[in-house]
Amino acid sequence: MTDQQDARVLDETARRRTFAVISHPDAGKSTLTEALALHAEVIDSAGAVHGKSGRKGVTSDWMEMERTRGISVSSAVLQFAYRDNVINLLDTPGHGDFSEDTYRVLAAVDAAVMLLDAAKGLEPQTLKLFDVCRSRGVPVITFVNKWDRPGREALELLDEVEQTIGLRPMPMTWPLGIAGQFKGLIERETGEYTAFLRAAGGATKATATVVDAETAKAEEPLYWQAAQDELELLDEIGAVWDEKDFLTGKATPVLFGSALSNIGVARLLDTLVDLAPAPAPRPDAEGHDRPLAAPTAGLVFKVQAGMDRAHRDRMAFLRICSGRFERGMVLTHAETGKPFATKYAQSVFGNQRTTVEEAFPGDIVGLVNANALRPGDTLYASDPVEFPTIPAFAPEHFAVVRCKDAGKTKQFRRGIEQLGNEAVIQVLRSDLRGDQAPVLAAVGPLQFDVVTARLETEFNAPVTLDRLPFQIARLTDAEGAAALSAQSETEVLRRDSDGEYLALFSNKWRMDIVIRKFPDVRMDAMPAGS
Ligand code: GDP
Repeated sequence: MTDQQDARVLDETARRRTFAVISHPDAGKSTLTEALALHAEVIDSAGAVHGKSGRKGVTSDWMEMERTRGISVSSAVLQFAYRDNVINLLDTPGHGDFSEDTYRVLAAVDAAVMLLDAAKGLEPQTLKLFDVCRSRGVPVITFVNKWDRPGREALELLDEVEQTIGLRPMPMTWPLGIAGQFKGLIERETGEYTAFLRAAGGATKATATVVDAETAKAEEPLYWQAAQDELELLDEIGAVWDEKDFLTGKATPVLFGSALSNIGVARLLDTLVDLAPAPAPRPDAEGHDRPLAAPTAGLVFKVQAGMDRAHRDRMAFLRICSGRFERGMVLTHAETGKPFATKYAQSVFGNQRTTVEEAFPGDIVGLVNANALRPGDTLYASDPVEFPTIPAFAPEHFAVVRCKDAGKTKQFRRGIEQLGNEAVIQVLRSDLRGDQAPVLAAVGPLQFDVVTARLETEFNAPVTLDRLPFQIARLTDAEGAAALSAQSETEVLRRDSDGEYLALFSNKWRMDIVIRKFPDVRMDAMPAGS
């Protein structure tokens, strides 16, 4: 590349902010996504982008399942412009059973917004997702949502964050008025006060007005004094902005607001632009950083089929890690060495697709006809590279799957192979069980429902599932497989995706007995998903 082209890549990369929202169901992630999109003026009315009810054009059956259960099983990407920046917001599945998917999404972001419900604070799924961010070194911005309705005290919430996960809160704004009696926000750095007024006529959006301190003090003397006391306390305990602590995951900037009333949402975007890191050089599998201006390369973090009946294809989501991506480029699939044509590159949000002509580090490109690609794979244009694969979670639920209809075994086999490739579920096999009755391993039982529904609707292969009485799995090897073959309440199977042997146990007690009996056998734990 010429210096000029390099400079353009670096320039475009510096404008990018790629992030995901981590939260517990109901904290307001969908509402916040809509509010963010409204600020970017990408869409004209909330709901058109990501509304849970009345979502337009969602046609496939398993999306129907998602809709009726009110859970999000698919991931999509929203790209929009804000100020001089390009924001990529990656959607994470909301349900705990899909934490494997979420884990993969978090491998593709540079920052995360931890969304807390002001009345509930840190909830179980937020904690799990935060752990993933921490283990991947993803810096976290905290948004305390639903401040428009009664909740806990601000200081108490901050204390919970610090005590529970050891993350030092650095409030950037401070609320005037307690949760439920929300008057406005004080900027900590400048002391500027913005009052929020709910619009008349039942509209939920609030209008923001900058009010001088004297007026605010006169109007809300008690709240004003309380806020000043709290701000003083924050200064005393050193809860102040520190960039290094944020980027190294020791501290989190905290913002207060209400996604539903559109309070603090623009401030969150400003924080992302001003404080969150732009895409940085990514380490390859050998630990060497791939320079941003190196030839085009990207990481596949998600593969999905059946997103839309009208597009019966399989789409891989590629996060660009270096260079400029141009539609039509032929990339090399690092794992197989085969070429991959990108004529049909798209950006995807929900079922809306537009063609992508070019993309830069931090951007997400949807690649159709991606049958050979799996999550964790690398694509590059020249100058070969391989990024580290994304680890699989420890499964805790197991079931034997069989085709109901002997005439459909071919479809069944193809379906299982594809769902395994997409990493919708882990597929385990053994000679003893044979090809017609593989074992499916899931982090959460809802994954079984997705597999069953997709086998039936997409592959025309109705199946039965029989749950197996195993609860815990460890990675072992061929020797382990031989040694453990005669143990009761234990079974060793081989995983399709990577050829690893998994030893399954009925419970921890049984596993401990086996480990004691065979101290030399490999028995490695996997990342915990729940
Ligand atoms: P998700 O499950 O995290 O995507 O949560 P939703 O965005 O669907 O929100 C869950 C519920 O909380 C919905 O009824 C929202 O209207 C409500 N909600 C979200 N944000 C706010 C907020 O700032 N204030 C209030 N009062 N309600 C909110």
